[in-house]
Amino acid sequence: MFEKGHKPPPCKKRKVAAMTSFQKLVEKKYGIDRDEQITRRLEQIPIKYRGTYKKAIARRSMRAAVNSQCLECVGHQRREVSFCTDLGCPLYLYRPYQKRTNKDDMPSDAGPDAD
Ligand code: SF4
Repeated sequence: MFEKGHKPPPCKKRKVAAMTSFQKLVEKKYGIDRDEQITRRLEQIPIKYRGTYKKAIARRSMRAAVNSQCLECVGHQRREVSFCTDLGCPLYLYRPYQKRTNKDDMPSDAGPDAD
């Protein structure tokens, strides 16, 4: 695979290269333009959350990816992420904005104990 004396790239770089070629394959096979999709998505994201999204898609932060996904899931309403009730979601325990100031902050239709 590699010529004699050629040092293979570090593992992380190989993984990135593999992802890139896979992305190219998907783009070619299904006629999808990633940049176009990203641009369209960015247009729907409120300006204050665009930085997080850009950081996520540039693979610079897993935290940014989780935050961005949760925000998108609830229509970019930060408070809604905090009150997410989908306990079965794989991101539930990792979602951002979990700290609440007090229980009175809960929505009135928050469950069986709600009045
Ligand atoms: S944890 Fe909640 S807000 Fe985040 S992706 Fe899952 S369902 Fe959506």
